[in-house]
Amino acid sequence: MAFPLPRRSRQARIAWGSRVVTVGGDAPVRVQSMTNTDTVDAIGTAIQVKELAQAGSEFVRITVNTPEAAAAVPYIREQLDRMGETVPLVGDFHYNGHRLLTEYPECAKALSKYRINPGNVGKGDKRDRQFGQMIDAAMRWDKAVRIGVNWGSLDQELLAELMDANSRRPSPWDARQVMYEALITSAIESAKRAEAMGLNGDQIILSCKVSGVQDLVSVYRELAKRCDYALHLGLTEAGMGTKGTVASTTALSILLQEGIGDTIRVSLTPQPGEARTQEVVVGSEILQALGLRMFVPSVTACPGCGRTTSTTFQELAKQIDDFLRSQMPVWRLKYPGVEKIKVAVMGCIVNGPGESKHADIGISLPGTGEAPAAPVFIDGEKALTLRGDNIAQEFQQLVEKYIADRFSTAVVAS
Ligand code: SF4
Repeated sequence: MAFPLPRRSRQARIAWGSRVVTVGGDAPVRVQSMTNTDTVDAIGTAIQVKELAQAGSEFVRITVNTPEAAAAVPYIREQLDRMGETVPLVGDFHYNGHRLLTEYPECAKALSKYRINPGNVGKGDKRDRQFGQMIDAAMRWDKAVRIGVNWGSLDQELLAELMDANSRRPSPWDARQVMYEALITSAIESAKRAEAMGLNGDQIILSCKVSGVQDLVSVYRELAKRCDYALHLGLTEAGMGTKGTVASTTALSILLQEGIGDTIRVSLTPQPGEARTQEVVVGSEILQALGLRMFVPSVTACPGCGRTTSTTFQELAKQIDDFLRSQMPVWRLKYPGVEKIKVAVMGCIVNGPGESKHADIGISLPGTGEAPAAPVFIDGEKALTLRGDNIAQEFQQLVEKYIADRFSTAVVAS
C-alpha cells in the first residue's frame, strides 16, 4: 500500500498580488504559523511575519481583535510589501469580525484569508447575520475563509441541541462522541451555509481543533470522510517544548500518513527566549520526516556514545544545521533543489564513514582514541581529510562550496 493514502480535496487559493498559495487538491501540504505580537504594533508585527515567512511559513495569521488592530493591518501589509515579502496574511477574528471586516475595508482587502470561528460569531439570531456579514466580506474582496472550529469555543447552542437529541437515542452515545459530532457538524454546516450564500466551496478551508491526540485523529478521520473541503490540521494548545512538539508530531503524522490534511500549524507555546519561528521549524520537519516535502538540507548526525567523549561532533552538527537553515531564504531562490541534499556529521569510525558515504557530503570525526583526523566524503567517495583546530570551519566551507558548485552548474545548465 502506498503512503500517504490519497484524499481528494477541493483546492483553495490564498493570494496576495501575484503570489498565489494553493491549498488542497494536488498542492503540497502547506505550513502556516501565527504571530504573537500586538497587531497594533504594525512594525513589530511585520518584522515577525517576515521572520516566520523566511523560516518557511507559507501564510501567516495575525490577530485582528480591535478597531485599532484592524486599522493597523493595511500598514502591516504595506511594510511587508516594502520589504519585498509577499507572504499572504490571514486575519484571525472572534466576536467582532463582522464589524471589523465591514467597517475597515482596507483591512478586509489587505488580508488574503479570514479565519472565522463559528462558536464566536454571535448567539441566537445574531449568529447567522454576523456570520453572513463575514462571508459577504469574503465574497466582496474575493478572499478565502477558514471555518475554524475549536473545542474550547464550540457553539454551545449546537452542542446543547445535539446533547438533547442524543438523550432521546435508544442507545445514547458517550459525551465525547457527541462533542466530536458537534465539532464536525459546526464546521460542515457553517461551510454549507457559506456556500448557500454564494461563496465558492473552493474558497473554504475547514478545521476542527482539539488538544488531545486521539481526539484529533478521531475527529479528522470523520471530518475527512464527510466532506471534500481542504482541511487545516493542528493540535490546539499543544503546549511547550518537547511535550508540544511530540504531541503535535504524533497527531499530525498519523493523519498526514492517511492523506488527511492540506495545511498544518504546530501551535507551540514558546519557551522563554525561544524564537516564534520554532513552530515553523517543527511543522516543516514533520512534513520532511514523512517525505511529503523538503524544506532544508537534512543533517544526519549520530547520537554519540562512549566512543565520543568530547562535544566536538555535537557542536559541529548544530553549527552545520544552523548554517544550512540560515542560508535557506537565499539558497531557496538561488539554488533550486538544494533542500534535497543530505549532510552527515558522525562521531566515530564505527558508522561515520558508512553514513557519510550515503550523504551528499559527510564528515566522520575521530572518536576517543582514534587518530585526530576527520575524513570527508563527497558524493560517496573519500575526498580529503581535515586535521587541526579548524575542522568545523573548514567543513562548513566545504559544504558551502559543494552546494555552490553543484547548484550553480544546475542553474547554468538549465
Ligand atoms: S557513530 Fe560512533 S560515536 Fe556515533 S553513535 Fe555510532 S559508535 Fe557512537
